[in-house]
Amino acid sequence: MNALAATTRNFRQAARILGLDSKIENSLLIPFREIKVECTIPKDDGTLVSYIGFRVQHDNARGPMKGGIRFHPEVDPDEVNALAQLMTWKTAVADLPYGGAKGGIGCKPKDLSTSELERLTRVFTQKIHDLIGDNTDVPAPDMGTNAQTMAWILDEYSKFHGHSPAVVTGKPVDLGGSLGREAATGRGVVYATEALLAEHGKSIEGLTFAIQGFGNVGSWAARLIDERGGKVVAVSDITGAIKNPNGIDIAALLKHKDATGKLEDFGGAQTMASDELLTSECDVLIPCALGGVLNRENAGDVKAKYIIEAANHPTDPEADEILSKKGVTILPDIYANAGGVTVSYFEWVQNIQGFMWDEEKVNQELSRYMRRAFHEIKSMSQTHSCNLRMGAFTLGVNRVARATLLRGWEA
Ligand code: NAD
Repeated sequence: MNALAATTRNFRQAARILGLDSKIENSLLIPFREIKVECTIPKDDGTLVSYIGFRVQHDNARGPMKGGIRFHPEVDPDEVNALAQLMTWKTAVADLPYGGAKGGIGCKPKDLSTSELERLTRVFTQKIHDLIGDNTDVPAPDMGTNAQTMAWILDEYSKFHGHSPAVVTGKPVDLGGSLGREAATGRGVVYATEALLAEHGKSIEGLTFAIQGFGNVGSWAARLIDERGGKVVAVSDITGAIKNPNGIDIAALLKHKDATGKLEDFGGAQTMASDELLTSECDVLIPCALGGVLNRENAGDVKAKYIIEAANHPTDPEADEILSKKGVTILPDIYANAGGVTVSYFEWVQNIQGFMWDEEKVNQELSRYMRRAFHEIKSMSQTHSCNLRMGAFTLGVNRVARATLLRGWEA
């Protein structure tokens, strides 16, 4: 099941549980606006090349729409649509005053030079500048884009609208980015894990963890778990997987990865097959790489008692059912990885205030937002006798539905 079908299914189930009127249910599914633009740029050799850019603005009932821009060859309108919808529920779960959006350009960023990427980003911004803004739609980095991409958008947008740092988040700190943003998603994953474990009378210290993906989110999660006395017993990335039942020294692994670009040949662990990671012996499994990695083929073999969905959509609906029958507790993506968009919100607030927070304040506020959302999800799941995924969906959908109704229906 693709991301759009799975998100829509979860939304419909939440709408049924909440008893939403069919008029509002259907209205919440249809995006507010879908934008498709042609972006033509000269390549470095002078030839012209065209790319298609998308921005789906899903819902703005609770505030400006918020979501990443990805540069990837497989960007398609259906997927962008699903991800935009997911952002609407995610920002509502975290109780940020935002709606949801997502965008992208169908291109292979690795095949483009830095100046070609800059031209492409600027042309895309020229095409959509009237439709984004700090009070309408606030983009952020996603796959294939980064702080530099945001700096180009900020610069191009400011040519039309004057200096506007709050138009994008995930900017370089020198241009108004927030301290703590780089670590925020991994840190949020760890705060979410702590909230869940505390509910079960446990803590990170002494438990074992397997982490799939050692990029931004996975490496920060691993580092912070290690700092708290958790034992990271297995780690994988695109280059392979390693394990050590006594715990991997994460600081040493980060140095090894920086020096060699891969996990294998690390002295403090043994190599294992990549697909073994998801079914390896551990208390907590944290997928931090791709969608759909837990499916009906491997779900029955998962040994973890807790799964923290740091990646977007790592568990397909069939796996969800199998894991739930096995008694595995899953902390859903729309909550578990919300630390990134939460610190993006803090960045936007700092830009609007013209006042920078120190990193300690950013982390303290992030911890408060993650703990609060966990207890609200838990309370929804108790009220509606459903699992945490449906607890999160009912929480998010209910907030958006309420805001929509309060705004009224009259034209
Ligand atoms: P990243 O590109 O920094 O890291 C991705 C990691 O996954 C890399 O280590 C890569 O080697 C690994 N990987 C890729 N294919 C793999 C495979 N087949 N097996 C094992 N590992 C594999 O990306 P990221 O920013 O860390 O994002 C990771 C996930 O978290 C994505 O699903 C992303 O959508 C989600 N997410 C990220 C953020 C954020 O702020 N970065 C926010 C919300 C959600």
